[in-house]
Amino acid sequence: MKFIPVAQPKIGKSEQLFVSQCLSSSWISSTGKFIAEFEKKFARFCGSSYAVSCNNGTTALHLALAALDIKSGDEVLVPALTFVATANAVKYCGATPVFVDIDRQSWNIDPLLVEKKINQRTKAIIPVHLYGYPVNMKAIMHIARKYNLYIIEDAAEAHGAKYYNKMVGTFGNIGCFSFYGNKIITTGEGGMCVTDNKDLAKKMVLLKNHGMSPKRKYFHPLMGFNYRMTNIQAAIGLAQIKQIYRFIKRRQVISDTYKDYLEKLPQITFQPENPNIESVCWLFSCLIKSSGKKNRENLIKYLKAHQIDSRPFFYPIPSFPMYSHNGTYLLADEVSRQGINLPTYADLSNAQIKYICQTVKNFFS
Ligand SMILES: *Cc1c(COP(=O)(O)O)cnc(C)c1O
Repeated sequence: MKFIPVAQPKIGKSEQLFVSQCLSSSWISSTGKFIAEFEKKFARFCGSSYAVSCNNGTTALHLALAALDIKSGDEVLVPALTFVATANAVKYCGATPVFVDIDRQSWNIDPLLVEKKINQRTKAIIPVHLYGYPVNMKAIMHIARKYNLYIIEDAAEAHGAKYYNKMVGTFGNIGCFSFYGNKIITTGEGGMCVTDNKDLAKKMVLLKNHGMSPKRKYFHPLMGFNYRMTNIQAAIGLAQIKQIYRFIKRRQVISDTYKDYLEKLPQITFQPENPNIESVCWLFSCLIKSSGKKNRENLIKYLKAHQIDSRPFFYPIPSFPMYSHNGTYLLADEVSRQGINLPTYADLSNAQIKYICQTVKNFFS
């Protein structure tokens, strides 16, 4: 039995073809036809007016915050349970991430707790669609309007997920995506910001290109960054976006198959299903109710011994030294301790899923 990884990109003939076109044309840096084409296709996929490419998902978040002029003295609300980059991007602007606990069902930022953390310094909220499961955006947008806050969606794990039939990443002012190798589509490393606001799109283009005026070369009205995507990355991205509906569909089947096999296990719970929520199952995720030695850590070891990789959930961000403070985030702590991600990628076969689930059942029996 071959080792089953948690994630693996699907790279085929068209990725190779487009990349070899870059190489043979020598347009390998951040100018070239694939960049604009990938941006156009990604914007269309999301249903956004503008898409601005950049070199990873973290810089996408930083660009979005910088374009909205988030700065020192500002506070930005961030879920306590997410990948560390969400909070780091806030710090890069000199602002302070303020953590909000998650809700028990979605494992996403709890809108009921958000309002308690809002004060005069609060400028924005970054809802994160964790593991591909959409945030309750109705509640978040209601709060944003009530308190006049910016919304930057961290959709790094949720390309194509829908909430009330609308793509995540298109609810707030700016939506941010990652194309890291394990994400739903990949460019190796890469990122994208989508928005319907022309001025914000223009500002992000300026910022990612050293703050250089598009009208006056080598004149820099702003301090920018070099966060540009290369034509080679965009070539891979263009080949990937052409297959995205197939990738998402396969992930849906993978998720359904896992649930069919595992739903009768009393030790396992999933996020609830809801006709208005279309999760994309970035990584199949469930919570493990431990009893004695039948706990998550031992399950991970048991799976590894049977050639199956898995991942514990992220640690709560406030548990890291650079963010540690007095707040308590009971649900983030609990879900972080109980959660496990199982292998999820387009080429994972139904037979492999069956084997993984049988191994999980054997562990508990
Ligand atoms: C992957 C990820 C990021 C960062 O993306 P990179 O491309 O790795 O920089 C940000 N937020 C979340 C929730 C992620 O999963």
